[in-house]
Amino acid sequence: MRCESKRRFLLLYATQKGQAKAIAEEIWQQAGAHGFEADIHCISEMDKYNLETEKDPVVIVISTTGTGDPPDTARKFVKKIQDKTLPPDHFVHLQYGLLGLGDSEYMFFCNGGRIVDRRLQELGAQHFYDTGLADDCVGLELVVDPWIDGLWLALKETLQLQEEKEGMNNAVNPVSSSLSTAPHAVHELKLSSEVQNLKLEDEGARGSDTLSQKADDISIVAPARDTKPSLVHSVPPVSQSALNIPALPPEYIEVEFQDTQGENPHLSSLISEGTTFEVPVTKAVQLTREDAIKTALLLELDIADATFEYQPGDAFCIICPNNVSEVEELLDILGLSEKGDDFICVKVKQGTKKKGASRPQHIPERSTLKFILTWCLEIRAIPKKAFLRALVECTSDVGEKRRLQELCSRQGASDYTHFIRDSNVCLLDLLHAFPSCKPSLSLLIEHLPKLQARSYSVSSSNLYQPGRLCFVFNVLEFPACPSRPVSRKGVCTGWLAELVAPLLHPSKNSLGTKGESSLIEKISLFPRPNNAFHLPGDPSVPFIMVGPGTGVSPFIGFLQHRQKLREHHTDWEFGETWLFFGCRHQDRDYLFKQLLCFLENGTLTHLKVCFSRDSSTAEVAPPKYVQDLLRICAKEVARVLLKERGYFYVCGDKKHMAEDVSDAVVDILSMEMEADRLEAMKVLAMLRESKRYLQDVWT
Ligand code: FAD
Repeated sequence: MRCESKRRFLLLYATQKGQAKAIAEEIWQQAGAHGFEADIHCISEMDKYNLETEKDPVVIVISTTGTGDPPDTARKFVKKIQDKTLPPDHFVHLQYGLLGLGDSEYMFFCNGGRIVDRRLQELGAQHFYDTGLADDCVGLELVVDPWIDGLWLALKETLQLQEEKEGMNNAVNPVSSSLSTAPHAVHELKLSSEVQNLKLEDEGARGSDTLSQKADDISIVAPARDTKPSLVHSVPPVSQSALNIPALPPEYIEVEFQDTQGENPHLSSLISEGTTFEVPVTKAVQLTREDAIKTALLLELDIADATFEYQPGDAFCIICPNNVSEVEELLDILGLSEKGDDFICVKVKQGTKKKGASRPQHIPERSTLKFILTWCLEIRAIPKKAFLRALVECTSDVGEKRRLQELCSRQGASDYTHFIRDSNVCLLDLLHAFPSCKPSLSLLIEHLPKLQARSYSVSSSNLYQPGRLCFVFNVLEFPACPSRPVSRKGVCTGWLAELVAPLLHPSKNSLGTKGESSLIEKISLFPRPNNAFHLPGDPSVPFIMVGPGTGVSPFIGFLQHRQKLREHHTDWEFGETWLFFGCRHQDRDYLFKQLLCFLENGTLTHLKVCFSRDSSTAEVAPPKYVQDLLRICAKEVARVLLKERGYFYVCGDKKHMAEDVSDAVVDILSMEMEADRLEAMKVLAMLRESKRYLQDVWT
């Protein structure tokens, strides 16, 4: 769609899970209030826009996926702009602003946006507004909100300059080219400070503008004696502020209950990433003692009948359901307990004001209500501000309404961060805390994201155990807290633990008398191959593995594979292997005693272990963490990496461990090379680039 207004801009989004699209739609919605009109398109719809001839400013919102790739929807676009035959002035006429989305816990933060940004620059395009890089790790809104605020002024000034330029050009030469170069002066705009006072006005039909209810006008949810803010209670200044709340997102989903019977879709139809396999769980072993802080389980799957191939180092994804009792509870709150097994048809609401509205792809057109709540929607997701804004409209109690408004307002931003984001509050927690909030099913479908399959690293080798695949995981436990009166387990790990409990404790299984087969549970999964995290192609090259806790899991696969290679190829030369492992207590959570067998049979040359919580009477305190062990072995680590061109693998917790390990490696390199840290960091970057320093890390 092409707008006729002069103050037009082109708005492109490249989305993987819908976040970039939602943000682009937010920009599109706000544009009107600021006197602009945006032509909004998914970046993949390349027949609907043309950057080669685009004269108006272009705004791009783009997320990142995988290991720093642009989203799938941007692939064609990226391929097109990466064409090496394009001249350096190809986009010299283009002025653009780019908002990249990413997660700084991943190595290549916002790389999808960076790739596009860099290439547009190389092709002569110019920024009319500084690039924003928003971090999901700390909250996208911390960058997204101010970036959008600043956008309007930047657009205004850019279009003004463009008009002035066109006016001058017309006066001098009425037939001059429309492909004018972008004004450099635009770069100097002081964007952010001048927009602090702009108001995000609520344009929603049922919404209100800046809200000015005061605490004393309304009944507050919590008793007045509470002086500390909480999820349900606010204190000055928030409680007394006029609020700037986001625009009410237009409704766009319609749900129809049907009187028919039938079958729910197959789980494989929910997955677009490739073939799925339903495989039996053949073994479950608890690797930790009962008194360990975390419970780690090893599951063995029978993949003999599945055309599923993997290499040690690969991962795969498990399709998991939401917790049954949480689904029941949600049905109860929605007043739909009786209708869980009814088939429903999900459609786009006729006449919706939502631009480009379409049925979310993760929602089947027709299935039972329970199926959607169980397999399709991430009901544990942390509600976004737009969701809170929509929930305001479904809340009857005036005090609860006000608190929800505060939590999605500019003024309540830190309350949102503290009581919702950082507290991992989910929809059910909110519905308990705000009992007069009664959302419709269609609203939940509009706002809850897709229930994602969970990834796990393979912990076995097909050479060592043909037809079997093993993996290891910690059962995540989230204790109760003030915002959440109940404790919970991780969605997938909690479900798996429950599923395999009879295998772990066969005696407790009441079906035990019916024979072994009654114990066999199946799970659905699909491969998620890793492009780089594999054994070195040349077996004579030495390598170092660092995997504390469950991070050791892929290295068990590496070592099993290596053992078989050594048995089968006695004439090959094999390089030395190092494993650095750490856990809390030697006798509680040392996951794989099998490591000692690898050491004994020579598969593993060096095994270095540490225990962070075991007390010691030694005069010199023993190393606690893997990074301490690495420092002790500094000379050998440097030799393997620098002299012998070896490989370095890190697996496990990405929040702390991966960073601490790379810091230790920088220190080691700097010490052994007798160079400063900057030089050592360059060497590490080079090792990463050449895929000799490899990470497989997760939260
Ligand atoms: P979820 O319910 O999804 O919770 C996960 C996260 O959500 C928590 O870490 C926490 O940040 C947050 N959270 C949710 N609710 C709360 C709450 N109430 N309170 C506090 N925080 C909360 N894991 C393994 O154990 N072994 C592996 O081999 C492995 N390999 C992986 C490989 C890859 C490539 C990737 C990307 C991940 C891997 N993971 C692995 C992580 C795994 O995919 C899952 O994230 C993990 O098992 C948790 O899933 P879950 O559904 O049980 O937890």
